[in-house]
Amino acid sequence: MPPTMGEAVYKRVLLKISGEGFCHEGGFGIEAPELEQIARECVDVCKMGVQLAVVVGGGNFIRGAKLENDLHIPRATADYMGMMATVLNAIALQETMERLGQPTRVMSAISIYNVAEPFIRRRAVRHLEKGRAIILAAGSGNPYFTTDTPAALRAAEIHADVLLKATKVDGIYSADPKKDPNAKRYTEVSYEQVHRDQLRVMDLTAITLCMERKIPLVVFNLKKQGNIARVMRGEAVGTKIHP
Ligand code: UDP
Repeated sequence: MPPTMGEAVYKRVLLKISGEGFCHEGGFGIEAPELEQIARECVDVCKMGVQLAVVVGGGNFIRGAKLENDLHIPRATADYMGMMATVLNAIALQETMERLGQPTRVMSAISIYNVAEPFIRRRAVRHLEKGRAIILAAGSGNPYFTTDTPAALRAAEIHADVLLKATKVDGIYSADPKKDPNAKRYTEVSYEQVHRDQLRVMDLTAITLCMERKIPLVVFNLKKQGNIARVMRGEAVGTKIHP
């Protein structure tokens, strides 16, 4: 029997929200309507009884690789700047979710005691069990990664049932849909196929980790209102990658 309205098929999820979710396409920083929409959707998921952990990106402010190219800032430093950018998104999201009534904690992989708790795995799980959403900031705490990899890593650590990658595209396509009118969107693929056909989904490190830990992944469009809840209800949204 299909799940009824509001019934979630997952108990604990790790949601990765790219920085681009915090502003309009091509924009910069955090914009009110986008922030409000993300926060509302996250709160709706919590209301369904799902334990929600969010990993936020920072590309709406800084991407390490671009800073290295454009400003000649050494890559490691540029990446630390990128990680700091994720903290800005995390705090904004926390405040907005709490204003909407959802207790939320920010946990950071880089020590910033005055603004966020450190990420401690057992404490993170405890927050979830107590009905608090957690927002995991500062990526992995290490340069040379993007937030895809810590998203997969934290999903494994907290034993999430699924990793959700909320992004600006509708899912995974056989080719770039902007360039190829015949490109088709996959509704389901296996990790083997992702590797074999070199489908661009997430960083390879993240994909490998999800594959090894047998964590399903759903890639979907964040900009379509209500999509997160649809994924929660098990509706065929975006592309599902299965182990
Ligand atoms: N970053 C990093 N280590 C991590 C996660 C992120 O160095 O574990 C840096 C990296 O420079 C990255 C930036 O933080 O470009 C912002 O993250 P990301 O590019 O993943 O943001 P998104 O594309 O999801 O908005």
